[in-house]
Amino acid sequence: MVMHTITEQIRTRGHNECIDMTERVQRAVHEAGITHGLATIFVPGSTAGVTTIEYEPGLVGDFQEALRRLFPEDLRYRHHDAPGEENGFAHLRSSFIGPSLIVPIVGGRLHLGTWQQIILVDFDIRARQRSVLIHLLGE
Ligand code: ZN
Repeated sequence: MVMHTITEQIRTRGHNECIDMTERVQRAVHEAGITHGLATIFVPGSTAGVTTIEYEPGLVGDFQEALRRLFPEDLRYRHHDAPGEENGFAHLRSSFIGPSLIVPIVGGRLHLGTWQQIILVDFDIRARQRSVLIHLLGE
């Protein structure tokens, strides 16, 4: 059994930016030499998320638009009562999408669908530096 953790430093622009992580995770799996196991992708922080999507510009735009419809930026949020806080919608988007994803590793490859990519989404209202953990477990 091998356990391996890689931290990827990723600069984001915030505002629902979606970054394709698939190649980075697959590279980590390859470098760890794991053929059978699990990859966990986790982003620490309460204004980002990790999920999958067909990474195609139209659908990425649809996803970003859906997030704005679900959690509009011009509503009143109780979080904004705290001093200096104006990103309540970003926290809610993060809670709904979730901070992590588990992908099975089969035959040395991430067992994703052909049109399924792993994305980091940054919901915050400013550019951020994110440290994304790729935690690999297997043999
Ligand atoms: Zn906040």
